Amino acid sequence: HAKKHGRGGVQRFERVMHQASLNRLTLENDLQRALERQEFVTYYQPIVDLQTQQFAGFEALVRWQHPERGMVSPGEFIPCMEATGLIVPVGMVVLQQACEQLHRWHQQGHAHWTMSVNLSVRQFACPTLVQDIDRIVALTGVNPAYLKLEITESAIMDNAEAAIAITQELRSRGIQISIDDFGTGYSSLGYLHRFPVDALKIDRSFVVAMEVNGSDYPVVDTILALSHQLKIAVIAEGIETQQQLELLQGRDCQYGQGYLFSRPLSAADLETLLKATVNSG
Ligand code: C2E
Ligand code: MG
Ligand code: MG
Ligand code: MG
Repeated sequence: HAKKHGRGGVQRFERVMHQASLNRLTLENDLQRALERQEFVTYYQPIVDLQTQQFAGFEALVRWQHPERGMVSPGEFIPCMEATGLIVPVGMVVLQQACEQLHRWHQQGHAHWTMSVNLSVRQFACPTLVQDIDRIVALTGVNPAYLKLEITESAIMDNAEAAIAITQELRSRGIQISIDDFGTGYSSLGYLHRFPVDALKIDRSFVVAMEVNGSDYPVVDTILALSHQLKIAVIAEGIETQQQLELLQGRDCQYGQGYLFSRPLSAADLETLLKATVNSG
């Protein structure tokens, strides 16, 4: 539709496109440098047992500690890292930080806590994935039975045969697999009985809908029924209100995470929160 505005519109369009590709190049360079300067840090969001409201574990979420811009959210740089492949080395940095932290917490006596780490489609397709994970597990000394890897339906559907093989390799080491953002992909449910998973994560969009849709929550109810039938765990994402919590508790949803309990925090802030909780209890 640049044409409608004549030659000036076209020139403006070209200028905008040029600027966009420049921005993209700048971001790519900045991210490469950020990796070298070790500016990626891992934050942790508690995953809570909804009946007892105790911490069951954490999800590791990457942040970019930018020297001028401060803390940058993954939404602003993950797409670029996916496109360039930078997500592969950065994902391994996150996995290593998360495993080191979990090992520390286990040593401090929180023996049952788990750690969930996101794996992008690109990482999942990386031929050295399993050996890279083995190396980090050995290096950090973490017990792999408490490690959970989150993948999306598209990572599975992109190459189902390879995904099944990789998942079996990981599960033979005791590592658990969760499907992230469940229900938002283009999945047929058919893969679920060929694909050995340990947990489904109900996407935040369905949890938000629980409050606005009156008394009927067909998607959440369907995912809960499915996970109960398959005898696998279920985690609701993005719980922000007491009402959402009560609706999920009433439906036997076992785990949840969301701002109602805690935002993602640095390890140091989490330790402070934990001390405060112990002191007040
Ligand atoms: P995700 O894996 O689905 O992670 C959950 C996102 O929901 C996180 O956003 C978290 O901060 C946010 N969230 C949690 N509770 C609430 C809530 O109550 N309300 C709202 N509005 N949001 C909530 P975040 O940290 O910005 O990460 C966004 C996405 O970026 C993640 O979605 C994940 O797909 C990706 N990501 C983050 N860290 C990594 C990483 O280390 N590796 C890879 N491959 N992807 C990552
Ligand atoms: Mg996730
Ligand atoms: Mg998610
Ligand atoms: Mg999500």
